[in-house]
Amino acid sequence: MNLRQVTACPQPAEYTTLRRRKRALAWQIYTCRPHRPLPDWSGNLRHLGADEEHPECGTVYDHRPHAEMIVSHLHGWMGAAGYPSGSPEPDPDDWQTHLNNARSFYTHVRSTDLLVVIDRAFASDGSMTDTLAVLADAETAAARQGRR
Ligand SMILES: [Zn+2]
Repeated sequence: MNLRQVTACPQPAEYTTLRRRKRALAWQIYTCRPHRPLPDWSGNLRHLGADEEHPECGTVYDHRPHAEMIVSHLHGWMGAAGYPSGSPEPDPDDWQTHLNNARSFYTHVRSTDLLVVIDRAFASDGSMTDTLAVLADAETAAARQGRR
């Protein structure tokens, strides 16, 4: 399980949204009232009961495989899109190819902030775990910089 912080909001959560896949929990996010409609985290929103955990707004418990989390960072809040023409769309769990394609995309659209993040991931030890940590840190930093 991977803990993420996707808002910079100190409010205690009032709502939760979760997604299941094959009956297993894929992720669960906790949000306050103003942050309920986070576009990357849509699902079956419900109000938290008084007897439930109320963590800080933006807390995500991510239970997906690491490769899938990396790809969801790239195509979620980081907004990477497309892949080189003439090559097939990479498999969802081929995170290295998705990372390379994202770098090409950010170079093309001159997204220097996100290029810095990708280059930091390439400069890590290259493991899935380190890459994921770099992307998760960048997500939290982006939230603190006022994106939400
Ligand atoms: Zn909030």
